[in-house]
Amino acid sequence: MMKKKSCEFLIIGSGFGGAFAAHTLAQAGRDVCVVERGKWVVRDESCWDEVRLHLENPLYRGHAPVLINQKEGKLDEYWPDDTVGGMSTFYGAAAFRLREEDFFGSPVDNEPERDSSTRWPISYDDLAPFYDEAEKLQFVAGTMGDDITEPPRSKKFPQPAPLLSKPSQKIYDAATKLGLHPFHIPMAINFRGDCGKGKCVLCHTCDHYLCKVEAKNDLAVVVLPEAISAGAKVLDDTRVVKINLSRGKAVSAETVDQRTGTRFEIKAKYIVLACGALGSPHLLLSSGIDRETLSGELIGRFLMRHANGVVSGIAAKKTNPENVFHKQIAIIDYYFGDPEKKKQPSGNWGLIQEIHTPGKGVMKANVPFGLKNMAAFMSDFLLNLLCIAEDQPQYANRVFIDISSKDKFGMPALRVYHRYTKRDIEARNALYSVAKKILLAAGALPVYCFHIDTFSHAIGTCRFGENSSSSVLDPECRVWGIKNLFVLDGSFMPSGGSVNPSLTIAANALRVAKILADMK
Ligand SMILES: Cc1cc2nc3c(=O)[nH]c(=O)nc-3n(C[C@H](O)[C@H](O)[C@H](O)COP(=O)(O)OP(=O)(O)OC[C@H]3O[C@@H](n4cnc5c(N)ncnc54)[C@H](O)[C@@H]3O)c2cc1C
Ligand code: SF4
Repeated sequence: MMKKKSCEFLIIGSGFGGAFAAHTLAQAGRDVCVVERGKWVVRDESCWDEVRLHLENPLYRGHAPVLINQKEGKLDEYWPDDTVGGMSTFYGAAAFRLREEDFFGSPVDNEPERDSSTRWPISYDDLAPFYDEAEKLQFVAGTMGDDITEPPRSKKFPQPAPLLSKPSQKIYDAATKLGLHPFHIPMAINFRGDCGKGKCVLCHTCDHYLCKVEAKNDLAVVVLPEAISAGAKVLDDTRVVKINLSRGKAVSAETVDQRTGTRFEIKAKYIVLACGALGSPHLLLSSGIDRETLSGELIGRFLMRHANGVVSGIAAKKTNPENVFHKQIAIIDYYFGDPEKKKQPSGNWGLIQEIHTPGKGVMKANVPFGLKNMAAFMSDFLLNLLCIAEDQPQYANRVFIDISSKDKFGMPALRVYHRYTKRDIEARNALYSVAKKILLAAGALPVYCFHIDTFSHAIGTCRFGENSSSSVLDPECRVWGIKNLFVLDGSFMPSGGSVNPSLTIAANALRVAKILADMK
């Protein structure tokens, strides 16, 4: 017979949604158990080693792939990296707030207005205090008042932004010369030494790597440890494979200890899914919850991921000879589109940010045969800008399950279908042209635009809204019709703005967890 455990709040997933919810609930004295399929990260030399992390038998590669159809006639296999802390352990630590206008919905074709069907059921003002709290818990470093689209904030950043490194200064000067308004990216990093655990050594292996010295304030470093001190339990390397319902309520989760294969059931009064925008709809659909809720047909739909890409330029000299950290500058002048309203598309374009050159091994792995050594050599001479364009939510873009194929834990295979709209691509191209001008002004010759086809910014697959005919979750992120089942990761977002999503997911989890903490 299957063993049984129980808790009051079962949180599935320990990324931004799960960790922040666990923090509030545990601090409120509630009985919290977090189940996470990833392992705790080991902080040793492997953290900054691209071969061990990404190339040969990646250390944290999950147990089951996602099959992705994003081009006609092609199915890509994507293997997520699973760790306690979710994607935060590998992330780039940019901690942005959405703009006030982003809450009015996604852009529409050929018009500056927004799509009112994707208007959020809450406003920026509702989320603002939770943005403050999330920034405080992750000790975000930033400069207030420099970002020309900055939404109102009542408090300064918990840490000042650090001085610009030489490569960042070059981008700053180039953008300023063009009449733009560059500013410091708000970063969840312990630059000062007293804002987290370890002090940042300003290395160039940050975004896409783990932090060996625990200076990146990922959730295994700063939020989960406090939740654990307050009493939360974290079961790592453990996967939930099914949510059980009884009489319209979620009652338990079927769970597998991945180390031993032991199966057990966890009974809970409240169940919070925080498995990410791919993982939460996967679990809901695998559990047949689409047949039990008012809006089941919408579960997994409207997947967004931003239209992201990198513009790279070659400079005459090495661009980062001292190998220092330089993800520091953002350019936001085109966030709401062309400021002169002459260029297309109308409506939002997005954000441009500095980004490091990938390691030589990753460069080699991603360019065609014959160009590999050349790419590795040229990587020392590159300057790069990341473009994040807002994409439109579309019904056809979705996460779904393939019941004809099961993974090793018996869950139906997870599949993704995604296509960008013409407008998504136009917005990204418009940002590419601005990024090229900045690189030229910085002395580099723009050579290539790399479209990013990962799902690192996946959101939107269980959108919240005012009614069950157009959303999966109610404004408190409860699955419509199932009063003790909640979804608190990036799935809840009905539109994505064009800033990196983590701080918004964190703030929303804090908002809802506060409501949950008061429940009997
Ligand atoms: C390389 C990289 C760089 C990034 N840089 C930035 C950045 O600079 N700024 C920013 O804002 N965002 C960044 N992002 C995006 C950001 O990390 C994500 O938006 C964010 O982590 C999403 O949080 P989440 O809570 O929705 O899901 P996740 O972080 O994906 O957490 C979901 C968790 O659930 C677990 N899980 C899933 N299914 C199950 C199951 N069945 N049982 C148990 N556990 C399960 C997963 O293992 C995972 O730990 C980056 C992402 C990547 C990959
Ligand atoms: S730049 Fe700082 S936070 Fe990032 S990996 Fe290096 S030491 Fe860690």
